[in-house]
Amino acid sequence: MPDGFLESARELTSRHGALLIVDEIQTGAGRTGEWFGFQHTAIQPDAITVAKGIGGGFPIGGLVTFGRASALFTKGQHGSTFGGNPLAAAVANAVLGEIERGGLVQNAARRGAEIREHVLGLGSPLVGEVRGLGLLIGVGLTEPVAGAVVAQAMREGLIVNAANDSSIRIAPPLTIGDAEIDEFAARFERALRTVATQ
Ligand SMILES: *Cc1c(COP(=O)(O)O)cnc(C)c1O
Repeated sequence: MPDGFLESARELTSRHGALLIVDEIQTGAGRTGEWFGFQHTAIQPDAITVAKGIGGGFPIGGLVTFGRASALFTKGQHGSTFGGNPLAAAVANAVLGEIERGGLVQNAARRGAEIREHVLGLGSPLVGEVRGLGLLIGVGLTEPVAGAVVAQAMREGLIVNAANDSSIRIAPPLTIGDAEIDEFAARFERALRTVATQ
C-alpha cells in the first residue's frame, strides 16, 4: 500500500462512522516483521481478520475486534459447523507460542532485510526494485517475464510466485536462516540469469 493509505482509510471511516476492518490473513502472525501489518502505522483498526499464519498449515480463521466494535457481534449471531473448533484453536495457540518463543517476528524483520539486500546485490538487469515488509517481499522486474522466472525457479527447485506479469512474490517460512537465504540467493540468481539470456 502507498504510504498514508491506512491512515486515510482510518480517517475516512472514523469521519463517516464506518468500521475499519484490516485483512491480516497474509500480513498477520509476524509475516511483515510486526505481529500485525497495521502495527507499522499508528492507526487502530476496529477489527482484523486472521487465518493462514496463525494455523501454521492447519485450517483456522478468526475475526478479532477492538473497542466498541466488540459489542456489535455477539454469541449466536454467526453459526458455523466447525466454528470454535477446539483442535484448531489448540493448534493456533501452539503456533502463536512458537512464534513468540522463537523470536520469529523479529526474525522476519531481520531476514526480510537480508533477502532484500541479497536480491538487490545480485545485480540482475531484470531486478528493478524490491518492495514489501519483513518476509512478504515483492521483486519488481524490469520486463514482464514473471511467469518465465517462476518456471525457471521451479527448475532450480525454488518455489516463488508471480503476483502479476512483472512481480515476483517471495514469502518464505518465518524460521528462515542463513543457510536457506544463501541457497535461495544462489538458485534465484541462476533462474534470473537464465531468463535474462533467453
Ligand atoms: C487466503 C486469504 C483469504 C481467504 O481466507 P479463507 O479462510 O480461505 O476464506 C482472505 N484474505 C486474504 C488476504 C487471504 O490471503
